[in-house]
Amino acid sequence: MAKLNENYLNLKESYLFADIAKRVAKFSEENPDKKIIRLGIGDVTKPLNKTVIENLHLAVDEMSDEKTFKGYGPEQGYDFLRNAIKDYYNRKGINLEVSEIFVSDGAKSDTGNITDLFSVDNIVMIPDPVYPVYVDTNIMNGREIVYIDANKDNDFLPLPDENKKADLIYICSPNNPTGACYNKEQLKMWVDYALKNEAIILFDAAYECFIADDSLPTSIFEIEGARKCAIEFCSLSKTAGFTGTRCGYTIVPKDIVFKSSNGSDMSLNQMWNRRQTTKFNGVPYIIQKGAASVFTEEGMKMSKETIDYYKENARIIANTMEECGINYYGGINSPYIWFECPDNMGSWDFFDKMLNEIAVVGTPGVGFGKNGDGYFRLSSFGNREATIEAMERFKTLFK
Ligand SMILES: *Cc1c(COP(=O)(O)O)cnc(C)c1O
Repeated sequence: MAKLNENYLNLKESYLFADIAKRVAKFSEENPDKKIIRLGIGDVTKPLNKTVIENLHLAVDEMSDEKTFKGYGPEQGYDFLRNAIKDYYNRKGINLEVSEIFVSDGAKSDTGNITDLFSVDNIVMIPDPVYPVYVDTNIMNGREIVYIDANKDNDFLPLPDENKKADLIYICSPNNPTGACYNKEQLKMWVDYALKNEAIILFDAAYECFIADDSLPTSIFEIEGARKCAIEFCSLSKTAGFTGTRCGYTIVPKDIVFKSSNGSDMSLNQMWNRRQTTKFNGVPYIIQKGAASVFTEEGMKMSKETIDYYKENARIIANTMEECGINYYGGINSPYIWFECPDNMGSWDFFDKMLNEIAVVGTPGVGFGKNGDGYFRLSSFGNREATIEAMERFKTLFK
């Protein structure tokens, strides 16, 4: 008889988005005349920029001609894109080898797939609240998880605790959902902890392009010692609107080498290369051509315009929070505003209040972990007029 992976029984069903949809549908049915504004989305809304579209078209045409047609490409990504990513890091003052850069179909797959490289008996440290992929993929593998609390007391930026041991540490900065972003000193504490405990940091930099403050690190590799203990995941999803187009990349430094139980050296870079060449056949040539154009001067300029549009939305939301005297996080270096529900309300109670009284939909913080209860996430990925109107309505809750 086939035996199934019973770790799946330990997964908690996520009802968050289904529950939101159900409540919104009910409200909409009972109030057909009310215009609902959705500020709960974790997806971008602006289309791909002109440079990307042009390059996608050119690549499509190349596929139509025998002389330029491409079949299987390198599993790790085409060199033109790996070099563009290398140059992008170089401009931040980080030197990478091309062979440390692996192009993929996105950071979600890679943050999940990376678990292939680690034994089941590692202890995994995951902040709460956070992007649910880290927790669920480790539960699927049957790994023990220790949670670290991200809360008001630490400004949603938990720091290492010598009494809490872990072998694998997930960090998402700027964070989804809280918008909190570590500074260099704080990340250095995590790197030092990882080096001391021979742990590995899995650093999710999906929102790095939203960092506005030049003093904040946009990559873990800005921190001394990180090349020996950290893997970085990034994505063009939020940077350039690739959520539906699919392209990301993962940096696995060659300096992370561990001793196996029989005393031989094991390199995570070699292991990830082996894993990808075995289980993955690369990102489509067409998509990689579009992705490479994101890193050109023109492409960067256009991405920045879109990001600036979202950031202006974030600023409008943040200003409203200030006006209403609400304690909030994020917004400046992140597309998300994470705020404390007024009057000690629970996340879902506040969700219902916003929906019923002002027809604005957000995301209840408790959906991202227990420390999210009493908090709420609003996203700046909406349209400007809708964001402004939602905030005008929001203010009426406090009059
Ligand atoms: C959106 C997001 C990603 C990006 O995932 P893709 O698979 O590249 O679209 C990764 N991490 C976090 C925390 C995110 O919110």
